[in-house]
Amino acid sequence: MSVLIKNVLLENSKTDVLIEGKKFSRIGNIDSLSVKADRIIDGTDLALLPAFYNLHTHAAMCLLRGFCEDLPLMPWLETIWKKEAVMTGEDIYDGTRLAVLEMIRSGTVFFADMYWFHQDVLRAVEEMGIRCNIGVTFMDNLGEKTIQDNFSFLDQYSKYGNDLITFAPAPHAIYTCSGDLYKRCFENAEKNNLFMQTHLAETVTETEDCKKAHQGMTPVEYLDSLGVLSDRVIAAHCVHLTPNDAKILSQRQVTAVHNPCSNMKLSSGVFNMPLAKANGMKIALGTDGCSSNNNLSMMEEMKTAALLAKVRFDSTEVLSAKEVYDMATVNGAAAYGLNAGRIAEGADADCILVDMTNERLTPSWNLIYNMVYSADSSCIDTVISAGKILMEHRHVNNEEEIIAKARKFIDK
Ligand SMILES: [Zn+2]
Repeated sequence: MSVLIKNVLLENSKTDVLIEGKKFSRIGNIDSLSVKADRIIDGTDLALLPAFYNLHTHAAMCLLRGFCEDLPLMPWLETIWKKEAVMTGEDIYDGTRLAVLEMIRSGTVFFADMYWFHQDVLRAVEEMGIRCNIGVTFMDNLGEKTIQDNFSFLDQYSKYGNDLITFAPAPHAIYTCSGDLYKRCFENAEKNNLFMQTHLAETVTETEDCKKAHQGMTPVEYLDSLGVLSDRVIAAHCVHLTPNDAKILSQRQVTAVHNPCSNMKLSSGVFNMPLAKANGMKIALGTDGCSSNNNLSMMEEMKTAALLAKVRFDSTEVLSAKEVYDMATVNGAAAYGLNAGRIAEGADADCILVDMTNERLTPSWNLIYNMVYSADSSCIDTVISAGKILMEHRHVNNEEEIIAKARKFIDK
């Protein structure tokens, strides 16, 4: 499959872009007669930009969007857990498809998922063509049989034939997983050359409990003492970091995923952007699940991240629009070892085409400023993931059926 995008705006000038297979193969003046592309997209009034990589979410939780709100953390969690307990694999499939539809419509081409029923998540993402790292969740209370089954699944699926979909052991958090389980997850990741997802240093309580249980160590120091931090680890939240924690995460090349909306909504705290940047930490962006956000728009996440850092750290310069756009795109792709997140010959053809006639992008003094501070999903016309068109003129395959099926979950 080849796609030729003609006369499109790319970094302030008009050009043509050829996609062959999964890659951008040529950027520049291209004669459409000479390349015989399968598809030609007229790029007039469109601009080409990197697409988004959502590095932390629980996709099917979008079925619980608005289910219960404004409660303190523990009663809120307990209410959610009761509803999750009745979810079937088919519900997870429906919920994941709804989430993927929402992500595609808001320009996301890759997400890291951490949830249950990984086979049904696989079914949904494969059907919809989005890229995904499927986290297989581990907790002590799953019991040894399920834990072993999950490791066997990872062994089996580590060389899964679809290179757009990868798997990761995902020990949930230090308060639900023993040190031994973390070590087993990390060993499985090393053995199968997989990434590992986890939640880390999300709340004050987590930090205080960790210090009590583990000789005064912070959650980051504790995981480091277990030897389970490396560049294959993607850690969500990382809100409560000491200077030493930031140093460790940087040295170990862990990617920290900033989840500003969720951290605000659950009163978890504020990610220390100046500390993370000063230590050269790898920082990406994620939405977290829809119970604590309540949507999956990386554009809202970018704006929230920028505004939150500016007000919390009393500086308009602490996080620029360009830096936050990089966190949502190239940093996220790099964390998962993808040659993507940028528009360049040889890179994976992941991109969005935005409608320059949309009121939120008008006037266009600076497109990145507009994308971070003004745009919403309505600005995105077309989404391409690894050379495959996932949305064109705002239409995604089967969208009516996906929404109709997900709407029925409320009757359960
Ligand atoms: Zn989470």
